[in-house]
Amino acid sequence: MSKNKAFLISLIATSGVAIGFSALSYQKYKKQKKIESYQKKKKKNKTIPLRRTKFIRDLATKRVNLVLSALQKRDPDETEYLQYVSVVTRSLTPLLMKDLKYVEALERLIEPERVFTFRVAWVDDNDIKHINRGYRVQFSSSIGPYKGGIRFDPKMNLSIMKSLAFEQTMKNSLTALPMGGAMGGADFDPKGKSDNEVKNFCHAFMSELYKIVGPNCDIPGPDINVGTREIGYMYGMYRKLTSQTNGALTGKRYNWGGSRVRTEATGYGLVYFLEYMLHDNNIPLDGRRITISGSGPVAQFAVEKLIERGAIPLTMSDSDGFIYARNGITLDLLKKIMYLKNVERGRLEELSQIVEYHGNKQRPWVVPCEIALPCAYHNEIQRKDALNLIQNGCIAVAEGSNISSAPEALKLFKQYNLLYAPGKAANAGGVAISGLEMSQNSIKLKMDPQDIKMGLKGIIYNIFEACRTAAQQFGDNDFDYSSGANIAAFLKLANCLFDEGII
Ligand code: NAP
Repeated sequence: MSKNKAFLISLIATSGVAIGFSALSYQKYKKQKKIESYQKKKKKNKTIPLRRTKFIRDLATKRVNLVLSALQKRDPDETEYLQYVSVVTRSLTPLLMKDLKYVEALERLIEPERVFTFRVAWVDDNDIKHINRGYRVQFSSSIGPYKGGIRFDPKMNLSIMKSLAFEQTMKNSLTALPMGGAMGGADFDPKGKSDNEVKNFCHAFMSELYKIVGPNCDIPGPDINVGTREIGYMYGMYRKLTSQTNGALTGKRYNWGGSRVRTEATGYGLVYFLEYMLHDNNIPLDGRRITISGSGPVAQFAVEKLIERGAIPLTMSDSDGFIYARNGITLDLLKKIMYLKNVERGRLEELSQIVEYHGNKQRPWVVPCEIALPCAYHNEIQRKDALNLIQNGCIAVAEGSNISSAPEALKLFKQYNLLYAPGKAANAGGVAISGLEMSQNSIKLKMDPQDIKMGLKGIIYNIFEACRTAAQQFGDNDFDYSSGANIAAFLKLANCLFDEGII
């Protein structure tokens, strides 16, 4: 046995880090030492010979591939999650190549801290019993309590939940507020259900969920098919079961603990981010023709803010089709849409007498526009939609929905140099105001709406700056806001993981 090997074995036997070390072969130990000395030299600003830089890059690539293949082996059926992780990892590459400790952080981060699934048993108006599956993915609490939406969607599965929870974790990191990340919901379809049935379901859902949420632990909020009505039913059951009135849920109505500007925040924040991005490229928002998908609160308040800013919102959609106002959606039409969707819970098709309507589940991406704001559903911009947008002269996409664009669409955006604002940055306004709602609930005081509006603008500006700075440092170009968002969010999370140790 060589002297070096004998020394290593004695080191392993006596060291407190023996567990970590024992897994390393002698060869790996030598490689590690090479890397450490490379990093020391880099710190001292010594020139690194090219072939050694390549050595680090190759090693990091190998390590990343190992991490991704381990993930694939562990959960081979989670297609959406694997896809999401690989897209994020790709944009983290410059950082991962810089220091191998970030690969280790990635490996830890992509395994959620906790995953819950539970039975939701409820009874409909005809006394028929139903069983649904509830989910809560508590992804990361490094930065603060778990925070993320509740979504009711019959297509829901664990793989999508984990992707959305990871996305939320990155988004919350960008807000600079003390919030970890989570996502939850159920494979429940609220379409065609009476108000009483929705209430029964929400009560049944919360009668399980209450065991794992709380104002200092996990704070769910609204998402697809979960608005003030559903949050109200859930909060009622939470209070009954816990005898607590606190900030365990956000998105509450103002009268019973909600914050001003919460409903508007995601849509307004999206337009603020869009404005910062356009301004950064010397493009005015005023007069731009913009397609919007969705007709929930995110789309509604994005359209309201666009009108205020002099832009021309052309479309809104639901899952059956879209409306197309060729001269722009007016405030009057928007009011009608809000009443139809928020009060009557109707379909856009019902407006076909007053505005052009395209049914058969068509999406608005066929309409010529300069800017597109997806505000409906994940992966709603597929490759063919991206091609349509590009061919029709679109120059920018800003995401109101989470993970709006499929990976093939993202590739096209990059190839054709579209300005692209990823959802984790552009739609962070909602969770930012949820963060302020949590603070207001904790101190049992209400903030002034003007202060909240200013706070929202400030938070979105800081997010934009964080994306921009990271893009300049690590991105493909200074306007690569997508890589910027991923790197800025991940860096903060990774540094928290290092500070907290292996837990
Ligand atoms: P919402 O009120 O439930 O609205 C969702 C909209 O998307 C509806 O118009 C819905 O139409 C449409 N939609 C749903 N599934 C669809 C599908 N498969 N294909 C086409 N359209 C579909 O939700 P929201 O609160 O406005 O949220 C919209 C998006 O923003 C979601 O992706 C959400 O994750 C994201 N987001 C929301 C917030 C927030 O604060 N609420 C914050 C950040 C991000 P139907 O009525 O026909 O289903």
